[in-house]
Amino acid sequence: MLCPRCLVNSKEINLESTVLEGIELDLCSECGGIWFDKQELASAISLDKQAIINFQDKLANLKTSDVKNTENVESKDYSLNCPKCNSVMNKYKYMYTSNIYIDSCDKCEGIWIDRGELLNIVNYLEEASKVDPEKEAEVLAKIQQIKKEYELKEKEFVDSLVKMDDKAKNPITKGLGEVLQAIYSFLYKRGL
Ligand SMILES: [Zn+2]
Ligand SMILES: [Zn+2]
Repeated sequence: MLCPRCLVNSKEINLESTVLEGIELDLCSECGGIWFDKQELASAISLDKQAIINFQDKLANLKTSDVKNTENVESKDYSLNCPKCNSVMNKYKYMYTSNIYIDSCDKCEGIWIDRGELLNIVNYLEEASKVDPEKEAEVLAKIQQIKKEYELKEKEFVDSLVKMDDKAKNPITKGLGEVLQAIYSFLYKRGL
């Protein structure tokens, strides 16, 4: 698989297989971005934060001065193509309330995350889990709104996510599965 981020910059870089606590990921040694196959992101963010920090440190050691040169390719204006199935991916703000952008493939449900963003996601979740009633209300309201929107669009979709089965058939909503599952597991962990 070629790195979708580097392709934007006309560079053909093969993603390298790497392992994070038993989860096999595909990493770009040029820009430091990571490809998560379906469900892998949800697995990765449920790991200990220290495992993620160690992983990011390991990645930092791999990087050369190229890292700085990739800053300009991380522009959020580009649509990336899925490295796996070549569909145009959709850009989402992680959990809808963060400022972390992820690129998600509706077709194969993989997710692309730019360099350093995995730790940002973990930090974001940690921050969000600290009890801040205002923030919490905001997140819950947003989730309710998302659920409502999806119930309108495709009634069965949210149910199928709750059951964690894989029967969502609408290709437009399919790629959001992992993001919503992350939200559900986040809420579940907090007993909400
Ligand atoms: Zn790359
Ligand atoms: Zn794909």
